[in-house]
Amino acid sequence: MATARQQAIQTIATTVHYLNRIEFKGLEFKDMFGCNVFNEAEQKARLPKPIFKALQKTIKLGAQLTEPAIADAVASAMKDWAIEHGATHYTHLFQPLTGLTAEKHDSFLSPCGDGTALAEFSGNELVKGEPDASSFPSGGTRSTFEARGYTGWDPTSPAYIRETPNGATLVIPTVFVSWTGEALDKKTPLLRSMEALSNQAIRIIRLFGHDNVKRVYTTVGPEQEYFLIDKNFLYARPDLINCGRTLFGAKPPKGQELEDQYFGTIPERVIACMADCETEMFKLGIPVKTRHNEVAPSQYEIAPIYEDSNLATDHNQLTMDVMRRTAENYGLVCLLHEKPFAGINGSGKHNNWSMSTDTGENLLNPGDNPHDNAQFLVFCVAVIRAVAKYPELLRVSVASAGNDHRLGANEAPPAIISIFLGDQLQDIMDQLERSDLKSTKQGGYMEVGVSVLPKLPRDAGDRNRTSPFAFTGNKFEFRAVGSAFSIGGPNTVLNTIVAESIDFIATKLEADVKGGKTLNKAIQDLLPGILKESKKVIFNGNGYSEEWHAEAAKRGLPNLKTTVEAIPQVISKASIELFTKYKVLTERELYSRYEIFSEKYVKEISIEANMMVHMAKTMILPAAMRHQSEVAGSVNATKAAGIDVGTQLEELKTLTTTINKFQAAIKALEHAADHTATGDTYSHAKYMKESVVTKMEELRTHGDALETMVADDLWPLPTYREMLFIK
Ligand code: ADP
Ligand code: MG
Repeated sequence: MATARQQAIQTIATTVHYLNRIEFKGLEFKDMFGCNVFNEAEQKARLPKPIFKALQKTIKLGAQLTEPAIADAVASAMKDWAIEHGATHYTHLFQPLTGLTAEKHDSFLSPCGDGTALAEFSGNELVKGEPDASSFPSGGTRSTFEARGYTGWDPTSPAYIRETPNGATLVIPTVFVSWTGEALDKKTPLLRSMEALSNQAIRIIRLFGHDNVKRVYTTVGPEQEYFLIDKNFLYARPDLINCGRTLFGAKPPKGQELEDQYFGTIPERVIACMADCETEMFKLGIPVKTRHNEVAPSQYEIAPIYEDSNLATDHNQLTMDVMRRTAENYGLVCLLHEKPFAGINGSGKHNNWSMSTDTGENLLNPGDNPHDNAQFLVFCVAVIRAVAKYPELLRVSVASAGNDHRLGANEAPPAIISIFLGDQLQDIMDQLERSDLKSTKQGGYMEVGVSVLPKLPRDAGDRNRTSPFAFTGNKFEFRAVGSAFSIGGPNTVLNTIVAESIDFIATKLEADVKGGKTLNKAIQDLLPGILKESKKVIFNGNGYSEEWHAEAAKRGLPNLKTTVEAIPQVISKASIELFTKYKVLTERELYSRYEIFSEKYVKEISIEANMMVHMAKTMILPAAMRHQSEVAGSVNATKAAGIDVGTQLEELKTLTTTINKFQAAIKALEHAADHTATGDTYSHAKYMKESVVTKMEELRTHGDALETMVADDLWPLPTYREMLFIK
């Protein structure tokens, strides 16, 4: 009998894949874009003019939709459009705090009572839904008597059709809140944070005299990394199925050291799968732009053109969903975990972030004239100040059990939050900072609003991959986000901390200008001091060098290495003050998140620990003991033949010692994981980190050692060299 591993390889070797699923020659690629979205063009074509106008006002300016008649009209048009597209059901899609998306489908059909049925969809059904959501995490914000939360239509993210075999569903993006109005999801706080930032940024824009701007949007383009491996391997790896990552696996003879993968040719089956994903995303109006190979073997990246943060977040969730589903059609599995394979690069999500006016001006784009330059400097310094003031909040926004394998481990970016500015911008900031010390003026200084900035080169992308937060020419790139994350959380934090900085700056500038200073003078007087205070967070060197860790400690920058160290930041005094001041999260909502993050960590580690014990006992140990018995038999036979068994005996001894250690480690982990929480959830999380994770690491070391000793034909688990290189 072949092992599951041998069967997997056999199947892969003999399977012929059907790759040509889309006939691009007959398709107008551009016409396909957004064809499954109830977008502005579709709304315009189908809604009465006043209704369309009112809806657009809500979408573009955040005006409340007050008239029930509007919702009714929109619902009716949406339903007709959806049914024409083959939809039979609709769903309110929401983003609970698990970081995933959730949905419940309802049919459009209503029986008429005379044996026939009608397709119906009312304004009420569009605007509000009541999923039975009592089993979603609420972190204590809902007691059982008010266990139901409701979903509320988010008109700023357009509804779309999701096609599946045998039907299609109208998907309506929604927020998810409790009856008492508390946010139970990732979308609500994100929308609130966008509002907060817009309100503050407009004040600066007004100071610069741009009266036509009504709203400022934060824009995001998330670069998504992922692995694709053959699906047959999955069946033989219970850890991949249940935990999304390998819990055992020795380092392969060939890893990524040849650097022959990055930007290399994409294998045929993979490119077929990518093209299929992109077609699907195009139909859903997701502006996918680039695809390429990543650093690790079997690792890839997909990046869209940026959109406003809300839409970008929804689209990224959808992207992950489409990739997971589509991969299956090509016999592949899409791994979105931050660290599917130890010792090989992990996956992140580079969150490219900027701010833009509703008139289309990127506020982090240095302009061509002194006036625009001055505005750029104000916004840029606001971001620097925000990151310097709240590094802990950025850190905790990217904390998860999965991401712990990247941040704080021996991989870029580190857990220490710092900003990379690059030589040119650094030079400008240095000059700016010096400019209030005119007596020590070294080589001239910059006069805000008078000097023209040198042209800043747009970063080619990879000049400093080790920085968690890098300026790349006209945007910042937050690189510490994990590949499996919803970008909703990190962007909520980013928007809010920057809103606070802009508020601080605007308040000072407004007062100065009112007091008679020119705007230029006010800026020139204000920015150097902020830069001096915030400077400690700027670092342009190698982020994972030993020196930086020492230097960062000297500068007093926080280094929250693990999720457990980071979680308490959610309810720090600074966090509560910040989020309540800008009405992004209430104290109760923050406490609920503190609770939920702790709980999620406990559960993830607990599942991994149990899975490890299970695999160790039922897969690895039996293989090791069979091998041991073979070796022992051979030693005995050799000895009986009167031949010296010196070295073979040594082999047997080493093997036996390793098996003994492995068995002891299983016992230790089993014991540690069998733990009933007595204190609060956070203490439990702490316990998991300190007492369980360490034992998992120990068990893995011995398991991986056995993989290098046991006869290949007895080893049951697909190995790294196979999973990463056989397609
Ligand atoms: P680079 O090569 O420097 O990384 P790209 O132009 O290729 O820059 O962009 C990388 C990612 O950054 C893309 O997802 C892109 O949409 C996004 N991006 C570009 N400009 C902005 C912006 N103003 N705001 C947010 N994201 C942006
Ligand atoms: Mg980039």
